[in-house]
Amino acid sequence: MTSTSSPDQKPLFDRVALIGIGLIGSSLSHAIRRRGLAGTIVGHARSAETRATAKRLGLVAEVYATAAEAAKAADLIILCAPVGVCADLTREMTQNLKPGAILTDVGSVKGAIARDCAPYIPAGVHFIPGHPIAGTEHSGPEAGFATLFDGRWCILTPVPDSDTAAIEKLRSFWEQCGSNVDVMTPDHHDLVLAITSHVPHLIAYNIVNTAAHLERVTDSEVIKFSAGGFRDFTRIAASDPTMWRDVFLNNKDAVLEMLGRFSEDLTMLQRAIRFGDGDTLFQLFTDARAVRRDIIQAGQDTGVSAEFYKARSLSPDHKKG
Ligand code: NAP
Repeated sequence: MTSTSSPDQKPLFDRVALIGIGLIGSSLSHAIRRRGLAGTIVGHARSAETRATAKRLGLVAEVYATAAEAAKAADLIILCAPVGVCADLTREMTQNLKPGAILTDVGSVKGAIARDCAPYIPAGVHFIPGHPIAGTEHSGPEAGFATLFDGRWCILTPVPDSDTAAIEKLRSFWEQCGSNVDVMTPDHHDLVLAITSHVPHLIAYNIVNTAAHLERVTDSEVIKFSAGGFRDFTRIAASDPTMWRDVFLNNKDAVLEMLGRFSEDLTMLQRAIRFGDGDTLFQLFTDARAVRRDIIQAGQDTGVSAEFYKARSLSPDHKKG
């Protein structure tokens, strides 16, 4: 399970280091091995338990207790840890990053990563932040699977001096992991993801907590009648608290801007309900329905592959939206 390429095919990278081996890191290991994209995969995880699991599952040939050791001699280093620790991990690795290597990440926020990691990138190392728009509400090294990135977008956000050949090599890597690749600035990424991902997660966390604190509705009623829409919010709100805390701390401006717009639109809906304005409600709901159709037509409603749910005997209701 360690050498990932077939004998007649030269892998895209000789040595890939996964810094963090949770859902995304382990999925990358599966996807890399599926297509033989690396000669060797090594990794770093913070806890001894995750390191042992990663070895047991054959996700990595070697696993190290420090990021610096894992990065040594690697030609692709992928930060797969929460956004808030990426700069510290990059600083730890600085001395061991090999000239010509590509250092990227998978964090859900890009402006803060580009800004905070850049000072620790030595000359000759190509730094290209990235973000696969693919995930589930599950965490840890056992949650990963090879098809997570299939048909999903991966956004690369090169910094001003990123090398064109390195960007193309990383694009090819993600394409061979199954993704479609788009390139944009870190700030634009953060604005787009604020409305498509970050604010929806905030709404889910908030509505679940509001329901939990209701005084005139019992907990058992909330659970019993959850199929009325609430259940889908609870799935999103089951996402990892550390990851999402870091997202909101690091994408503050874009999230606050989108929340402002959201609140204005919510007030409009509130007024329409208060004044019995059925025409406005009907028009807004019709417009929203059209967006749903566009997403399905763009093939972005496939969610997590059926394979994942089958393997875990889960219903597709568990899918991340
Ligand atoms: P995860 O399953 O919770 O795994 C996180 C990994 O990072 C674990 O190996 C963890 O080690 C390690 N880690 C945590 N804190 C660390 C620290 N202080 N120093 C070193 N390692 C540390 O998380 P994930 O879902 O893979 O998310 C990883 C990154 O992907 C995040 O930046 C997130 O924004 C991004 N992302 C997530 C999704 C998603 O849906 N989950 C989608 C796209 C992008 P231990 O296991 O030893 O604690």
